[in-house]
Amino acid sequence: MEIATNIRRIKSGIPERVKLVAVSKTKPEKDILEAYNSGQRIFGENKVQELLSKHSRLPDDIEWHMIGHLQSNKVRLIVPFVSLIHGADSFKLLQVIDKEAFKIEKTVSCLLQFYIAQEETKFGFSIGEAIEMLDSEEFKQLSNVRICGVMGMATFTSDETTVRNEFRKLKGIFERLKADYFADKGHFCEISMGMSDDYRIAIEEGSTMIRLGSLIFGSRNYKQN
Ligand SMILES: *Cc1c(COP(=O)(O)O)cnc(C)c1O
Repeated sequence: MEIATNIRRIKSGIPERVKLVAVSKTKPEKDILEAYNSGQRIFGENKVQELLSKHSRLPDDIEWHMIGHLQSNKVRLIVPFVSLIHGADSFKLLQVIDKEAFKIEKTVSCLLQFYIAQEETKFGFSIGEAIEMLDSEEFKQLSNVRICGVMGMATFTSDETTVRNEFRKLKGIFERLKADYFADKGHFCEISMGMSDDYRIAIEEGSTMIRLGSLIFGSRNYKQN
């Protein structure tokens, strides 16, 4: 009951245009089903094995989003069913996704992950790296990935100004890429930013997709990424 209530409360407090990704990592299937039965359809996981087993046992009309760092050698396993890969963080990874998607005649939607935080450990492109990739001939040859927007994580801090500035930076990157590379691509429209602690700020700064775990399902037993 509590999960359904949490989702209802969150949804009533956010604009309708903002998509809610329920981050179910580490949580049991019964929790996911409770969210599902309350109408939630988008779920996010950050480990390939967990995503595979949950996908195989839960309803078919769930949209599974891969939100974590994805290793090239595991891409093949999720390409057949994944709805959106949030963490496309290198050209090499995009090439592998493209190759695997091509093999099964699918187009896979991806977000370019940007490094916006002050922390050392976060994955992602810098704006310079992304532009270099987008300008390259090799990038233009990708046929089976669809770049739907950008994703980023703010610094883990209680300093609201820092977080807001980082989200603003990601929004700026989105606008720039949209204008220079994706102006004619209607599908380039997503800005995935905002987690349980900072999603309100993210929405104020233009988020179109928030990824909430603990606020929906309660705190996780162990800390993952
Ligand atoms: C775990 C995780 C989230 C959700 O975190 P909460 O703080 O529990 O909302 C969002 N995005 C990514 C990439 C994550 O790994």
